[in-house]
Parts: sequence; structure tokens; C-alpha cells
Amino acid sequence: MAWFGALRYNTHMVDRTRVRSTHALILRRRDVADADRVLTVFTPGEGKIELLAKGVRKTTSRKAGHLEPFMHTALVVAAARTWDIITEASTVESFRHLRTDLDAISRAGYLCELLDAFTDAGDDNRALWDLVLYALRILERAAEQGQPPPANLLRWYDLQLLGLTGFQPQFFHCVSCEEELQPLLNFLSLGEGGVFCPRCGALRDDVEPIEVDTLKVLRYLQSRTWLEVERLNVRPGVARAIDSVLQRYLVTVLERSVRAADFIRRLEHDKRAS
Ligand SMILES: [Zn+2]
Repeated sequence: MAWFGALRYNTHMVDRTRVRSTHALILRRRDVADADRVLTVFTPGEGKIELLAKGVRKTTSRKAGHLEPFMHTALVVAAARTWDIITEASTVESFRHLRTDLDAISRAGYLCELLDAFTDAGDDNRALWDLVLYALRILERAAEQGQPPPANLLRWYDLQLLGLTGFQPQFFHCVSCEEELQPLLNFLSLGEGGVFCPRCGALRDDVEPIEVDTLKVLRYLQSRTWLEVERLNVRPGVARAIDSVLQRYLVTVLERSVRAADFIRRLEHDKRAS
């Protein structure tokens, strides 16, 4: 009965040839049988994957403290049939203020959920990994210093993430005639993913006017580094217009995907930061 025995022990005994190390950001987790959890993590080399953390809900688990939401951990993972299994976990960056400061918690949750909603299992995207960790570090630093979360962080993150996942809205050239957009009243189309010049926009009924200042700030957020954006002071009226454009654009893009439905509901109900 060696065959039966091998099957039975497959999830417990680790074949050293099928073990690998990876860094991972814990996006979410769900409880499964026994004291186990399935973690959805984002990794620099494999993108988003699901892993099994065995026995992690037991109070004696040594791994548990390294597998909390928003943690950057180093994992050793063993290949298995359903979910690959975490055999070792150690904290690289705990981001502990992101679990204690309420303003920071909601924003860290937003960063991770948006990443989750925009990625499919196994799409590796090293730039996304760098982006989300960069943004978490900014939040963590502010929370650690007792500062409010930086006002433009989520707006900047939205636009960077859209660019890295292939949904970059077109804010510099007319979506139709491709002429450079001028500082005039132009027209936004969420469905077309960008802005039409006054001439092309006048011919369409699926557009809305977009003010010069709103477009200017969106372009800045899209094309500049965080160090430049951090210093940008956005007037409240413009900030509201930008948040409305970004939120509705995210919903428009995500609605193509059923998987993102829960997140869309949250986007629509939560009062976004700023
Ligand atoms: Zn045009």
C-alpha cells in the first residue's frame, strides 16, 4: 500500500526538490478546515498566488505572527496538490502601524484590495510589487510619525496601478484624433478610457466636460514621481473632481470582471480618503 501512503502524506511531508523561497505581501486570508488558512499573497516573481498555512490558527503556531494582513514576509513554500504549503515564514517588514492606526488601516486595505482586484492569479508583475510596497512604506512612515496619511497617495497609486496593469487612461492626447490636448474645456469618456478634444468631444454623447485644472492635476499625478506629487497642494474642489473621475473609472474598468464585484461595492460605498 505504498501508493496510498504516499498520497496520504503528500500534504505533510515536504519533498525538498519542490521547495522554493519567495517574498510575499499578505493580501487576504480565509479560514479553512482544521486550524488552517488559505492566504492570498502577492509575490515579486510569481504575482498573486494562494498558499496554505497549516495550523496557523492554533495559539502555538510559530508562523502565525508572520502572516498578518499587509505584512511583507519571506516564505519557504513546498509544492503540493491543491495549494502550495508555507513551511517557514519570517517577517521582512511588519508595517505594524498599518494595523494599529485606523486611517492607515483603511488605506493599506485599499492599496491591497485594488492590487488584488486588478491582478489575476499568476500574472507576475515586478513593477506592481515595487509600487505597492513603496506606497505601504509611505503610509507606514506617516503613521509611525503620527502624521495623517498623505493626501495624494491613493490618487497617485490609482493612476500608477492603472498604468502598470494596462488600463492607463489617456489624459495627454485626444482619444480620437490624437492631437495634443490644449488647456480648454475638454471631454472625458470613462468608457473610452480618456479625454476627447473639444472638436471630437462635441460629436459624442458618452462624454462629460472636464475642467482644465482637473485634467492638469490628473496628468501630473499620472506622470510624476511620488516625491513630486507629495508636495502638490490640490484645491478641495479639484480634489473632489479628481476622486470622482478616478473612482468611476476604476469601477468602469473593474465591472468587466465578476471577481471584482465585492471590491466595486466597497468602492461605491466607502467614503474615499483625502
Ligand atoms: Zn480630437
